[in-house]
Amino acid sequence: MIVEDEEDLAASLKYNLEKEGGYFVATAGTGEQGLSLARGRKFDLVMLDMMLPGIDGLEVCRTLRASGQNAAIPIIFLTARIEESDKLIGLEIGADDYLTKPFSPRELVARIMALLRRPREADRRAAPPQPAGLEVDVPRREVRVDGTPIALTRTEFDIMAALAADPGVVVAR
Ligand code: CA
Repeated sequence: MIVEDEEDLAASLKYNLEKEGGYFVATAGTGEQGLSLARGRKFDLVMLDMMLPGIDGLEVCRTLRASGQNAAIPIIFLTARIEESDKLIGLEIGADDYLTKPFSPRELVARIMALLRRPREADRRAAPPQPAGLEVDVPRREVRVDGTPIALTRTEFDIMAALAADPGVVVAR
């Protein structure tokens, strides 16, 4: 998603990302609009202009970071401001990268591809290695640790089987 009030810039970024990167890009012209889009769906990455009418980029970033499904999303700040303090504030509140205008669309595409390749801290934590010695035997409805069956209730077994089917993947309650 691109949140940028300069329509020409947003349109050119969208064009480049869709053409060169093969991404689907949504655009928002204000912070409010961006947050409203982000409430409805999960994005892979957000490009956020710092200076926006209404709520500014920093506030949008803070709100996204505090929200559920897009809380860990990579965020790249786009800005005309070059003060070091702004850059530091942006990084402190959770921006992943920072581009000062004017920048080349190709550079932006390269940075985006680098960010999307980089495993997130949260993802690394969420993908533990398969525990050694654990067997979930679905046909027999039995869980064994180092060959020893573990006593589980029916529900406990179902939960275990659901979790073991996709190690490291978060499952809805
Ligand atoms: Ca702007």
